Amino acid sequence: MPRYEFRCRACGTTFEVNRPMAESGAAASCPEGHDDTVKLLSTVAVGGTAARSSAPAPGGGGGGGCCGGGCCG
Ligand SMILES: [Zn+2]
Repeated sequence: MPRYEFRCRACGTTFEVNRPMAESGAAASCPEGHDDTVKLLSTVAVGGTAARSSAPAPGGGGGGGCCGGGCCG
C-alpha cells in the first residue's frame, strides 16, 4: 500500500498516511486533529534518483573503448 506524506498548515507537523491509491486525493487530518493539510511529494522519487546516479556502470563500459581508441574509423 502506498505511503503518502502530509504537512499540517495549522501546526506545521509532518505525518505519513498509508492508504490505497484510490484514496490518494482524499483529505487527511493531522495527528493533532487539524484538517488544513497539504500532500507532499513522495520520498520514493528522491531515493530513485539518488540510486540511479550512484550506480556503477554494469559490465565494463559498452562501446566507448572501441570507438574512442580509433579502431572504428
Ligand atoms: Zn495540525
